[in-house]
Amino acid sequence: MIVLKSASEIAIMRIAGSIAAAVLSELKQMIRPGITLKELDRRAEELTKSYEALPAFKGYNGFPASVCASVNEEVVHGIPGSRVLKTGDIVGLDFGVIYNGFYSDSAVTVPVGKVSPEVQTLLEVTEQALFKGIAKARAGNRLYDISDAIQRFVEYHGFSVVRDFVGHGIGRKMHEAPQVPNFVGNDYNPRLKAGMTIAIEPMVNIGTYEVDVDPNDNWTVFTADHQYSAHFEHTVAITGGEPEILTVLRPELLPGG
Ligand code: MG
Ligand code: MG
Repeated sequence: MIVLKSASEIAIMRIAGSIAAAVLSELKQMIRPGITLKELDRRAEELTKSYEALPAFKGYNGFPASVCASVNEEVVHGIPGSRVLKTGDIVGLDFGVIYNGFYSDSAVTVPVGKVSPEVQTLLEVTEQALFKGIAKARAGNRLYDISDAIQRFVEYHGFSVVRDFVGHGIGRKMHEAPQVPNFVGNDYNPRLKAGMTIAIEPMVNIGTYEVDVDPNDNWTVFTADHQYSAHFEHTVAITGGEPEILTVLRPELLPGG
């Protein structure tokens, strides 16, 4: 069942979204060769608490950290440990909070120093694909209008969209109905309505869309061909008009200031 949110619930999600955006913005600024993923995670947790929120992922199904940090061929769900970032790497930072009972969820992929032209294109195409999808998040459209916009754009540029992981409804739970795939399937394709809140999150690979899960930690998802992958995500509210991105930084909404 798809849970529609009231204006006052969306107002809370706007704050949750702003907190996630503030944390991601600060983490982005910390990215440089030599920093460890663990340092990013520690800072994310500290900042989240300063905003009177809780990191949404810590402990979620047993996930051991506040941020998912996925490097290079890692797609999503990387565990931030002692790995040191180096020039030419890319790191996907996926982060959300719980604020006043509501979740936010957002991701960016950040280059470390200079990356190859192909990888730079991967980052740009994935971020633009997210915005192609968001543009279709309008009442009266159907779910797969979002999926189709993302898939078409990505494949036009010669990359592939991951099939095994998808976006999702979000609200009082991190994962609500409906699933929001980045490809057109044959499943439930509901009409979009004002009050729906969804996390749109293209995961885009340079090579094959096939992925595997690291058997050592049972979390880290990586590309089957070990080529690079990028991930961008926003939490979006469907309104009577323009889609509203909830995971943008609105400094005036940040609690604890
Ligand atoms: Mg996420
Ligand atoms: Mg998500």
